[in-house]
Amino acid sequence: MSQTTTAVQVVESALREFGPSVAILTSFQREGVVILDMVMKAAPNTPVLTIDTGRLPQATFRMIDAIEQRYSIRVEHIRPDPAEVASMVATQGIDLFRDSYAQRVLCCQVRKVRPLAKRLSTVAAFFAGLRRSQSESRADIEVIDRSSSPVKICPLADWSHNDVLSYIAANQLPEHPLYAAGYTSIGCDPCTRAVTAGEDERAGRWWWETDEAKECGLHFTPEGKVERTVDVLLREILERTAV
Ligand code: SF4
Repeated sequence: MSQTTTAVQVVESALREFGPSVAILTSFQREGVVILDMVMKAAPNTPVLTIDTGRLPQATFRMIDAIEQRYSIRVEHIRPDPAEVASMVATQGIDLFRDSYAQRVLCCQVRKVRPLAKRLSTVAAFFAGLRRSQSESRADIEVIDRSSSPVKICPLADWSHNDVLSYIAANQLPEHPLYAAGYTSIGCDPCTRAVTAGEDERAGRWWWETDEAKECGLHFTPEGKVERTVDVLLREILERTAV
């Protein structure tokens, strides 16, 4: 059975199981667009969610426009709480992520993780474009993770980079414009750069961090060594929003 057939079966099975309570979460990187294409062909009314952190590159909005036109859909933008962002910026500065790993994780918590958790609490399951070969931290991801709440479905978990490229070419899918500029993983504008030959696929994310997992906390919790620091900083931010 081909990789595509297997992934489509995972998608169709999840759509049958979770019905209207499943959503697609994507930042419009290649993997997300592959899943979106598979889901739209089977269930075009499935909600398409993206996290609009307030720091995304303009190219991502051009990509969203292209997707909306191709599939005749409206993408739902999940945005952070403006009061939490204002409090964080007032106390830590707008580019706090450059100062320490803990502050970077804090920024990802406020702009990504917290707003996403709120939205995902309303669905039973969601599709995500993670692949095991993307990085060490993703080596053990499951196709269907039922320990996650909501259930996380990664139909491309065992796909290779070339499998993704082949599906995109065969289905003539649009590609995020930053791939043509040398990016291999795409996130917020100030935290993502193009990679050079031989660099890891996620090396362009938070490239100034050399020893840390290139993860924002959406799919994997931050390392224990900064959890307490982040908790303290987050509590301070939330206390200010309550004033
Ligand atoms: S990727 Fe950078 S700007 Fe975006 S939420 Fe994380 S630290 Fe903040």
